[in-house]
Amino acid sequence: MERPETVTMLMAGLIRVIAPNPSPMTYWGTNSYILGTGEARVLIDPGPQDSQHLQAVLSALPQGTSISHILVTHAHKDHSGGAQELSQVTGAPVMAFGDALSGRSDIMTQLAATTEIGGGEGVDMTFIPDVLLKDGQQIETPAGPITALHTPGHMGNHLCFAWNNSLFSGDLIMGWSSSLISPPDGDAAAFRDSCHKLLMRPDTPLYAGHGALVESGHARINALLMHRAKREQQILQALKHKPLDLKTLTKAVYGNLESFTLKAAARNTLAHLIDLKEQSKIKAVPDLHEIPVFSLAENKV
Ligand SMILES: [Zn+2]
Repeated sequence: MERPETVTMLMAGLIRVIAPNPSPMTYWGTNSYILGTGEARVLIDPGPQDSQHLQAVLSALPQGTSISHILVTHAHKDHSGGAQELSQVTGAPVMAFGDALSGRSDIMTQLAATTEIGGGEGVDMTFIPDVLLKDGQQIETPAGPITALHTPGHMGNHLCFAWNNSLFSGDLIMGWSSSLISPPDGDAAAFRDSCHKLLMRPDTPLYAGHGALVESGHARINALLMHRAKREQQILQALKHKPLDLKTLTKAVYGNLESFTLKAAARNTLAHLIDLKEQSKIKAVPDLHEIPVFSLAENKV
């Protein structure tokens, strides 16, 4: 992976600043975007709480310009962590769907309350936006109108932002990797619904939270939907022979992975299993409240 320059002018009125937090989960680091051509600019995703990144964002602002709006795609620390400090420095309000727990589906709220479901990787529990954005809400900004789209799947409070002929897709749709869906924040059924919601909109390039520009949003979304459907089929196939637990299923579907990737793969597999159980395609024994054994719905265990 070749890391581009920290600050890049992607087109007139769009600057990308890459945070110094590269990792296997964040690729070359978090992308912060600065939108607009006037004196006041809009920032999408402050990135992690990191003074070096904060400085890079402020230095990337052309002389005589300032930030008037801070939009946050979701409350993961690598996106929202720097929001408060940037807001203090610039005076701009932080705008998002809600705090880290908002927008969760009923099943995930229930699982989080009643089970040891795990998850919670990188969640920013301290995140409190100044302004709450609703699904479909148009924000009038000096960079022009921006529409907030509630798109849970990677996280319940995830928003994508539509601006001119572009969509800022956060961690929902990325080019370099499929998105981590780790319950209870991640929700496979919500991910599918969010994908279909974006497919109802015109096809535009995507500016993701990590990695490079995706030229065709629709092509990438369709590829990711196919990828998930294939994983689902692999799980059902593996369960044809006998009931299996999560660990064995993850290995059956993903093959042998190194431990870090295996952990993420197990979270994605769990998301599929909850989704399949919700659709009554599989059973979990004793149930999802323990570490269960999964089987096809028609099997007797
Ligand atoms: Zn994230």
